[in-house]
Amino acid sequence: MRQAGRISARALALGGEAVRPGVTTAHINKVIHDYIISQGAKPNFLGLYGFPASACISVNDTVIHGIPSTAQVIHEGDIVSIDTGALYKGWHGDNAGTFVAGTASDEAARLIEVTKQSFYEGLKMAVVGNRIGDISHAIQQYVEANGFSIVREYVGHGVGSELHEDPEVPNYGHPGRGARLVPGMTLAIEPMVNAGAAAVRQLPDGWTVKTRDGSLSAHYEKSIVITANGPVILTDPN
Ligand code: MG
Repeated sequence: MRQAGRISARALALGGEAVRPGVTTAHINKVIHDYIISQGAKPNFLGLYGFPASACISVNDTVIHGIPSTAQVIHEGDIVSIDTGALYKGWHGDNAGTFVAGTASDEAARLIEVTKQSFYEGLKMAVVGNRIGDISHAIQQYVEANGFSIVREYVGHGVGSELHEDPEVPNYGHPGRGARLVPGMTLAIEPMVNAGAAAVRQLPDGWTVKTRDGSLSAHYEKSIVITANGPVILTDPN
């Protein structure tokens, strides 16, 4: 899973570097796809539940599951969430991040930073003996204390020989609830955070999820493993 995670993380980083004004979301997807294939791995998003690309690319008020398109051009100041992963030697990596084309507004920059930091607040609680709810609660508390909203309809998950496994890892909840964390448990923790209200809607394409109020949304995700010595990030580019 470290090897699958490394490929996933490098693919995400390359996708992030490709985010700039004037490129299409299809171009970003191709950069990611080609890299994963070049590593002898498989893009694990491609074809999953019928998804037609190797990365979900979600711009501005799109929360998740944006479908890359040759018709969608990135503009100066856009924020672009990329979610992607690789299947390598039977194991999955899954990770996401939000990148800026050019220069972000102050609000967008703060949203991205709070979303990233909320992952790390959750990660602090990802220790043996705690429960899933401790991670969930820490993420929610941090996001809401910073004036943003947590998306409820989509959650993190176990990850391993399948991309999506039990248990679910919600980004909201109560401490002390849910499955107990044990060494060897591998999870994808992935806060999705809206600048405005939490409500989302799905477009008729059956994939694209947008904020209902049109506010910006950001995403941050890494795959991790629980160990006796604390959590270790598996989607590490190094
Ligand atoms: Mg995931």
